[in-house]
Amino acid sequence: MSLNLKSLISVLNADWAGTDKDVFIDHISIDSRSLQNGSQTLFFALAGVNNDAHSFIPDLIKNGVQNFVVQYIPENYADKANFLVVENTLQALQEFAAYYRNLFHFPIIGLTGSNGKTIVKEWLNFLLSPDFNIIRSPKSYNSQVGVPLSVIAINEKHNLGIFEAGISTVNEMGKLEKIIRPTIGVLTNIGSAHDEGFKNLVQKIDEKLLLFKECPVIIYQKNEIVDSCLSQFAAEYMMHPRKLFSWSFTDQSAAVFISKKETKNEDTVIQYRYKNENFTLEIPFSDSASVENAISCLLVLLYFNYDQNAIQSRIKMLYPVRMRLEVKNGINNCSIIDDSYSSDFQSLKIALDFLESQKKKGASKTVILSDIFQSGFTNEELYSKVAQLISDNKINRVIGIGPTISSFKNQFENSTMFPNTADFIAAIEHLNFNNETILVKGARSFQFEEIVSLLEEKTHETVLEINLDAISQNYNYFKAKLATNVKMMAMVKAFGYGNGGLEIAKLLEHHKVDYLGVAFADEGILLKNGGIKLPIMVLNPESTSFPSIIQYQLEPEIYSIKGLNAFLKIAREKNLKDFPIHIKIDTGMHRLGFEENTLEDLIQTLKGNSTVRVQSVLSHLATSDDPKHYDFVNKQIALFEKLSSRLISELNINPIRHILNTSGISNFPNAQYNMVRLGIGLYGVSNDPAEQKYLENVGTLKSIISQVRTIPAGDSVGYGRRFMAEKETKIATIPIGYADGIARLWGNEVGFVVIKNQKAKIVGSVCMDMLMVNVTEIDCKEGDSVVIFGESPTVIEMAEALKTIPYEIMTSISQRVKRVFFR
Ligand SMILES: *Cc1c(COP(=O)(O)O)cnc(C)c1O
Repeated sequence: MSLNLKSLISVLNADWAGTDKDVFIDHISIDSRSLQNGSQTLFFALAGVNNDAHSFIPDLIKNGVQNFVVQYIPENYADKANFLVVENTLQALQEFAAYYRNLFHFPIIGLTGSNGKTIVKEWLNFLLSPDFNIIRSPKSYNSQVGVPLSVIAINEKHNLGIFEAGISTVNEMGKLEKIIRPTIGVLTNIGSAHDEGFKNLVQKIDEKLLLFKECPVIIYQKNEIVDSCLSQFAAEYMMHPRKLFSWSFTDQSAAVFISKKETKNEDTVIQYRYKNENFTLEIPFSDSASVENAISCLLVLLYFNYDQNAIQSRIKMLYPVRMRLEVKNGINNCSIIDDSYSSDFQSLKIALDFLESQKKKGASKTVILSDIFQSGFTNEELYSKVAQLISDNKINRVIGIGPTISSFKNQFENSTMFPNTADFIAAIEHLNFNNETILVKGARSFQFEEIVSLLEEKTHETVLEINLDAISQNYNYFKAKLATNVKMMAMVKAFGYGNGGLEIAKLLEHHKVDYLGVAFADEGILLKNGGIKLPIMVLNPESTSFPSIIQYQLEPEIYSIKGLNAFLKIAREKNLKDFPIHIKIDTGMHRLGFEENTLEDLIQTLKGNSTVRVQSVLSHLATSDDPKHYDFVNKQIALFEKLSSRLISELNINPIRHILNTSGISNFPNAQYNMVRLGIGLYGVSNDPAEQKYLENVGTLKSIISQVRTIPAGDSVGYGRRFMAEKETKIATIPIGYADGIARLWGNEVGFVVIKNQKAKIVGSVCMDMLMVNVTEIDCKEGDSVVIFGESPTVIEMAEALKTIPYEIMTSISQRVKRVFFR
């Protein structure tokens, strides 16, 4: 990309303010953290309800970024950079993408539907890549922001685009249509589910079809509802002669009629009729979703006039698609970012940004990279771009694998090259991986999954997967409930309620949360050692930890005169001045805090004291989640108002005041004071079912089946023979038990796990490291994935059955269960 900034003023209908119009833009960014931002970057400052990128502009300018699209210019910066001022930066990004899209004139495949978009996109990329230089949306970038970013990555070497569009409600597709402007439309599985955001199925289909408004051909599975929507649609948009290219299992009038479908082991063989000829096709999957997705791909190949041999040989090689970058714990204190299934240039850029955001403090950054295919550039051009990108991203060492990248070794600093994966694996011992964050990125044919498995720390197969995007989403949901200028403290005590302390703290730091809260000094030290710069309040500091609290600049909650005096003594010895402390008042919880009758003492001790500074005054609600006790909450709030006001006036201070936890934020919006303390809500749990709908599930506890057996009627399962088979029963054993945090009460057919989307009851007692489930009705085998909790069962359901609260379930998951973070 090389665009004159001046020309964009009219494209975006922007007001100009700045220093130099005569600059060229070669990169678009919305991510302030990206190391790829430079002087030729045009940064769109998106202003979410909560996360306003305008606040990053001063830092970006300091780091050399010169060009911005903004809704307003930050104070005192008008003459420090170039600003295109628009009404709405997201809309401007979309307009820019639409403008940019129209500079190119090659075929673009646009995908939409309810299921399968990303898989069909990845498969089409694989199937067509021998013949085209393809630009496609990375991962599942299919939203109002993702689509423009995908399209902006087109360059002059591409000759085919594949973009997916995802929508959640009406009036969204119109915008995406302008940006993608597909010339070939593919409607993937539309689903029959009543989606939230749409009145009914017809409205959902109608909205999706808008992607194909200007599109000369639409590929879809024939069915009555879609057909009727399409004829309606054709009537509305008659100006474009449109071809419908459909397939069906049942309707012989479809262009491709599938007359037979047979599943053999892992494969499916279909027979289809096309242009009056019959063909057989082998699809390397047995589940119906994959078969349908493969048929969508078949139609695209037929549309492109591929011959049957090519179609068969390519479709036979389809593979399961991995849709996200995964972070895994590695050997020798390394962490691994597993992107072992793709190697195009565009996805390398995204993976490098992700690497930067995941890098551990003190760890160096390593990239293991295979040859890169299908860029359209000459190898010289391509690898010099790659080398530049690697150097911009300050990668400490590069390991190249493949004959081509090896031949460009001299372009890369600190690089080691291997002609193939086997040679690398033979040498792996000598490469001394240690304290590194390692991006493993390679084309499928290089089988980098073997590298990942060697570098990965070996633990048992149970993992707690943490969805970082869900945390962001939940954070934003609660942030949006706060009045302006109300700060947010995120509670990350107990390893972020069991979900992972440091990783989540890093994410929150990115979201510019104001404070973190932990229970004990150790937890805070772990975060500071991990590089967290945010202020951290320690709820329950023991006096033995005061020296390290001071050393690590943590901020203690002080809840008694005794504690205050002990802290003051150490603080004076160290000659501290204005050290921030937080005063906890007991307003009725009766756990920790100054009671009303100790306030005078507190005031006398603090008066005129310059060793410490009262950074905040807080209290904690006992019943903010329970309407039965709202009167009590109001009493607590009133007492807090009274006592904190007294402290403020007598000490003549201006501290942050805060009393609300998650359910307090939801139920007592008038008591936000200057800050709130968000805990469980961040991790996706609300006490209110109506609110629960808006939160996203964060943690999914997963394991696998270790063994499957069938027992005859009359046999028993497990310790104490607590399950007796009444009939022949198929039993699967899962390697997770009470030592991992699964309550024994959840056993004996109270609880269940989910295998292949079906419930399997836990039979017999939960053992220390294992449990057994009834899978008589489920088609499953050793190695299949098992969900212990997540979307189903939810921790809320579990907590109800176990007569406890979600907090206990989440924090009980033992530290031996590996945490895997993804977005
Ligand atoms: C844990 C905790 C919170 C957070 O409570 P949630 O109900 O999880 O939001 C807030 N304040 C204090 C003092 C806490 O201990």
